Amino acid sequence: MIRSTDLPHTNVSQPPQRLFGAHLSIAGGHERAVEAAADRNMTTVQIFTKSTQQWVGKPLRPSSIAAFRRAVATHGIERPVAHASYLINLGSPDPDIRARSIDALACEVERCDALGIEDLVFHPGAHLGDGERVGLERVAQGVWEVLQRTQDCRVRLDLETTAGQGTCLGGPLAHLEAILQQCDARDPGDGSIRDRLAVCCDTCHLYAFGYDLVDPWGYHALMEELATRIGLERVRVWHLNDSARECGSRVDRHAGIGRGRLGLEPFRRLVNEPAFLATPLILETPKGTEAGEDLDLIHLRTLRGLLGMTTPILPPTPASTDGGSSPSPKPKRGYRRAGSLPPSQSRPNLKLDFDPDPDPKFNVTVSSFEPRALSEATDVECHQ
Ligand SMILES: [Zn+2]
Ligand SMILES: [Zn+2]
Repeated sequence: MIRSTDLPHTNVSQPPQRLFGAHLSIAGGHERAVEAAADRNMTTVQIFTKSTQQWVGKPLRPSSIAAFRRAVATHGIERPVAHASYLINLGSPDPDIRARSIDALACEVERCDALGIEDLVFHPGAHLGDGERVGLERVAQGVWEVLQRTQDCRVRLDLETTAGQGTCLGGPLAHLEAILQQCDARDPGDGSIRDRLAVCCDTCHLYAFGYDLVDPWGYHALMEELATRIGLERVRVWHLNDSARECGSRVDRHAGIGRGRLGLEPFRRLVNEPAFLATPLILETPKGTEAGEDLDLIHLRTLRGLLGMTTPILPPTPASTDGGSSPSPKPKRGYRRAGSLPPSQSRPNLKLDFDPDPDPKFNVTVSSFEPRALSEATDVECHQ
């Protein structure tokens, strides 16, 4: 069991547990998000520590900090996660924005530290026309400065994968790898930088950028690339979101689990990955109710239903239906180019309750980003 033994929702007869949670609102107090998570039988939670529209939030009151910490302990919430403000752009060409971003991120690290939150997810930023190499260097410099300024904090910065929209960095894993490498190189040898910098993977963003998680080999190739470039142990948080838009679209539009282009199969694989048994798996899916039931609850039930499921939900692709004579055909390296899959293979063999886009453009090649170029990502421009 992942959870401690004296928790209100613990049931020893349950199937294997994972750290399932969702991004929840702190309206009414930070502890409210924890209470809402517990009400939904979640084992972890993600919050903003302040309004996302502000660079610097008003200071946390000791009573708020105490209430949050007490709620986390009472409800057995593990590894709560924070998400940083979207205003932050460490890659900005504007030195003022960059300085404000560094201040704001450092401030968020301190808030997390006060609240006892050890993972702060943030988006790498956008180069806004200055190119990927320059942008990535700026981000790495900014990350390093934030880590330097918050040396006393027990908070990790988790770079999130992005859909690569516009000039946003973080679409290819090679971007994150470049930032990690540049920061790791400045670790004084005691892990004070290296151990405080990790990665958050978002299934919707990965897919929208062009990693085809639906295809079994695409999924395998992603895991291989993650292991090679980042290290699976350095993936500290997963955002589990289905994607309303097609692979390679570079459009970040989240959908409920099993209700978008990803379907259930990538989630079945992910929730059963031994490497992520104790990794927070966070929903950032559209909120609301359906037939009076909370959508987060519905998605969590779906995800829990996939635990221990060993049978693929997708029919096997032709490449793997050779009667088992070649049990380990060589998976493709890198991700699929957008539009490379016919709809029948790209979509789950499931009845979805709605079609997020009645006019899929699977045959349009959106991305011309080549996996070969990833190793020299610092010289590669985003294709828009
Ligand atoms: Zn996310
Ligand atoms: Zn997103």
